[in-house]
Amino acid sequence: MAMIELKRGRLTVPDDLELPYIEGDGIGPDITRATLRVLDACVHKVYNGKKSVKWVKLDAGEESFAKLGTYMPAETIDAIKRYRVAIKGPLTTPVGKGIRSINVLMRQTFGLYANVRPVRFFPGLPSPLKSPENVDITVVRENTEDVYAGIEFEKGSDGAKEIIKMMREKFKIEIGNDAGIGIKVITESASKRIMKYAVSYALDHRKNRITIMHKGNIMKFTEGAFMNWCYDVAKKELGPAMVTEQELTEKYGGRVPAGKVLVNDRIADNMLQQIITRPEDYGIIVAPNLNGDYVSDAIAAEVGGLGVAPGGNIGDDYAVFEAVHGSAPKYANKNVANPTSMILAGAMMFAHLGWKEAHDEIYNAVEKTMKEGSLTQDLARVLGTKALGTAEFADAVVKNI
Ligand code: NAP
Repeated sequence: MAMIELKRGRLTVPDDLELPYIEGDGIGPDITRATLRVLDACVHKVYNGKKSVKWVKLDAGEESFAKLGTYMPAETIDAIKRYRVAIKGPLTTPVGKGIRSINVLMRQTFGLYANVRPVRFFPGLPSPLKSPENVDITVVRENTEDVYAGIEFEKGSDGAKEIIKMMREKFKIEIGNDAGIGIKVITESASKRIMKYAVSYALDHRKNRITIMHKGNIMKFTEGAFMNWCYDVAKKELGPAMVTEQELTEKYGGRVPAGKVLVNDRIADNMLQQIITRPEDYGIIVAPNLNGDYVSDAIAAEVGGLGVAPGGNIGDDYAVFEAVHGSAPKYANKNVANPTSMILAGAMMFAHLGWKEAHDEIYNAVEKTMKEGSLTQDLARVLGTKALGTAEFADAVVKNI
């Protein structure tokens, strides 16, 4: 068994591949089991023994805490560094107390600056939209900063008191002494890096629309600056291939000409209503961390919900693939969770490794399975049909591979 190497910015992927996985908390073990079975069946079918994957389990999350006293052992961090690419189930983060998010920690530790969340409709899925087939939107979310950076000070803490004092004395800004304080950081370098990623993703995936989502009318020097930096990168990277919104209407009659990419922007609240009223107008949405999180869940809801949206956390050196949703603890160990999101995350991982045929095979099998009406309870309950369990849904996908 061999491991992935990175040579001059390119991955070298051996045919007898060893890949690590984290099961995750809550529904994590159920959906991970289902996912690995589908991925194995796919590799076996597509490559007929010429390629294989040996899965290596890594400790993390609640099970790891119970066993080893830590939610993220140093060995797991070291292993992901060695393997470079991993797939993970969702990990629980308590709200308003306790540990910081392990997901955020991983994104920061491995420099996974791009959170890529492609969401598309599969025929047969329930949707609140009239024409859900128009939804084919990839969210490219900045993954390392914004209010997610974890720079927060609890009410009454030394840090909060110090900041309140400094604001009062230096800037004549009054903040109540009972305030918890969080700091929003948006840098030029991270904004430009994510837009560069979004442009290259658009070119690689033949997407001709990139929309910058921001709340720059209110947060001028963070989200407004994000928009400006993104436009700077688009102009530089695309040159004459970039089309503005004004050119689109005045010169091109509303249609993006072949070989060109429309780059526009939307204020966050408008963006959230536009993805419902005119999803066909959007191809890639590039967004700072918090906006990107909100908008991708909202788009997922248009095509059946969180159970069907995959995600990749991608950096220059490492990549970790996962479901967009969380650990849904109420469904833990009940064999009812929908594993599609993680299965498709596995497909994204194969595409990242250059195993494009395996990616396509998984998407085709999932599409066929859903068209047949084989669905888990999250989707079946909306249609009033009989639901399959997590494992039985995986069986149905495997049968369609
Ligand atoms: P969630 O786990 O995504 O679940 C929210 C709801 O979405 C569920 O109650 C369920 O809806 C539906 N759902 C999500 N995944 C599903 C699936 N695979 N199959 C069927 N239904 C599914 O969100 P949450 O309750 O806000 O978060 C729970 C924990 O997960 C938190 O600790 C959070 O921090 C963590 N989290 C982790 C990640 C990650 O690891 N990357 C991401 C997000 C959240 P119904 O109740 O309508 O059936």
